[in-house]
Amino acid sequence: MGRRSLPGGAASFIDRERLLADLDELLRIPSLGGTPAEVDAQRHLADRWAGEGLEVTTWDIDVDATAARSDFPGMEVERESALGVIARFPGSGGGRTLLFDGHTDVVPPGDIGAWTGDPFIPRTVQRDGRDAIVARGACDMKAGLVAAWEALRAVRRSGVPLRGDVLLCPVSGEEDGGLGTYAALEHLLGTPIAGCIVPEPTDLDLVPANAGALTFRLTVNGAAIHASRRSEGVSAVEKFVPVLAALSHLEAVRNASVDELMQRWPVAYPLSIGTVHAGDWASTVPDLLVAEGRLGVALDESADNARAELEAAVADVCRSDAWLREHPVTVEWWGGQFHAGRTDPNAGIVSLVRDTHTRAAGHAPETYGGPYGSDLRLLVGMGGIPTVQYGPGDTRVAHAPDEYVDIEDVVMCASVLADVIVDFCS
Ligand SMILES: [Zn+2]
Repeated sequence: MGRRSLPGGAASFIDRERLLADLDELLRIPSLGGTPAEVDAQRHLADRWAGEGLEVTTWDIDVDATAARSDFPGMEVERESALGVIARFPGSGGGRTLLFDGHTDVVPPGDIGAWTGDPFIPRTVQRDGRDAIVARGACDMKAGLVAAWEALRAVRRSGVPLRGDVLLCPVSGEEDGGLGTYAALEHLLGTPIAGCIVPEPTDLDLVPANAGALTFRLTVNGAAIHASRRSEGVSAVEKFVPVLAALSHLEAVRNASVDELMQRWPVAYPLSIGTVHAGDWASTVPDLLVAEGRLGVALDESADNARAELEAAVADVCRSDAWLREHPVTVEWWGGQFHAGRTDPNAGIVSLVRDTHTRAAGHAPETYGGPYGSDLRLLVGMGGIPTVQYGPGDTRVAHAPDEYVDIEDVVMCASVLADVIVDFCS
């Protein structure tokens, strides 16, 4: 395929033990979004990379000022501080700059009882007859980030000279909106970046596009009364029922015909209610229901259009009900507002990862869009950087108890990324 690669094969330059030890260390930092450990994980990487001789820049992100910007992508947890980190391995000049962006924040472990051990003490287990590491963040996405780190080390070990720079950019706040990447792109303004790889879990497939996801809140008002006089009050729960039906219908309409890159998913653009709170007493007719959910945004659809469609569907329901006409359901958009984003699946960086993976694995990876929002849309939309997600781990286990990543896939990813660096930057 005429691609440049490491002499003798990238795999021979990967230090598997070092990679796994670094992953273990990072997984022990419980970097839940909004906690001090989120900053600890960022600092840990900055320190390690400075120790390895990379040019490391760190800065305190002014969270309040950043969140106040009109195009800020949203934030769903309280956060007082965040640390920006960019590590640069400089090329000799005249080459293309390659960026690796990966988040270090993780979502909460959920029901601890559903885990077979402490989520922040990594352990090796067998999954489908192969060694895998179980810990919160193993799959999403500390393994991918460490694989990119090891890929750069492998290139440095090989002594192959690079002309372009390699940037490692770990970020906070990805899971709840994208604070870290937003701040990093601001910081990198003016730095020409020719391509970006986000080693999110893709099971080593190529994901050059993401649907968007918009978080919303619906408030339904009723009229409280003692349940023994139910028919004289108005139940907010009952008034929510036709709203829910209308949203299900809207989801079906919005998924009737989807982009080719999204056709593998049963529902490409889900519209899902995640929380419903109503009432405060079993024998009182509830006068308030608050429901929160997420609305999928189609590839190439604007977030405004998606929001307008949901608002119109809710307004339609209200028009057809005497009570709701007078007391319309309100829709608020809050928290993560992930736009959709895409890079051409045949863009240079995507083809390069495809060819390199094919050579290493002996088969071509699949190429498709992810049904989730991620930092990809910021990198593509704000940064104008051709971006592809490619990393170890299966999104089916991300955010789940006993989240895991297959060790051989992590090693394979590091090896592929090492060759990608050599081709892209030399
Ligand atoms: Zn992730």
